[in-house]
Amino acid sequence: MENKTICDRVKEIREQYGLIGTAVDPLIIAQENGIKILEKSNLTINGEPVSGAIIKKNNDITIYVNAEDSKVRKRFTVAHEIAHYYLHLDKNKQFVDLKRNNSKAPMELEADEFAGCLLMDTEHVNERYEKAKSIGLSNEGIVSVLAGIFVVSDAAMYTRLKNLGKF
Ligand SMILES: [Zn+2]
Repeated sequence: MENKTICDRVKEIREQYGLIGTAVDPLIIAQENGIKILEKSNLTINGEPVSGAIIKKNNDITIYVNAEDSKVRKRFTVAHEIAHYYLHLDKNKQFVDLKRNNSKAPMELEADEFAGCLLMDTEHVNERYEKAKSIGLSNEGIVSVLAGIFVVSDAAMYTRLKNLGKF
């Protein structure tokens, strides 16, 4: 990465597409960039079950999402694949990403960080965290309330708050 952090980059993208507030819709970014989104039942790529994928062929870019996943999971998958579009999709090459669980590959960690910043904006998370804390919610309660507000999984919100140094 250059000097800019991934969250800085995401902030610019959020502003560019007018994604303001808490429960932003990552599909807007895909639509604005001409990326197709396809939901597939029991999504497998090369015989492997995955929650999502982004595939570039010639100039067509498609994000695949596993239809059986929960709403919050699908949102995170789309945000993760959009991250690959911005961070890793070389203009002249084919690119295939397979979204697996808990991959520790550097590109996957970057994509998850990007998705976290996109769906859980730093300023908004900080603001909501302070509010929830001020009314005396436990850490578990804070995670659950904020996950609902930002329409993400509890696990995703926990990770985001942890990365922001809250826990
Ligand atoms: Zn990925």
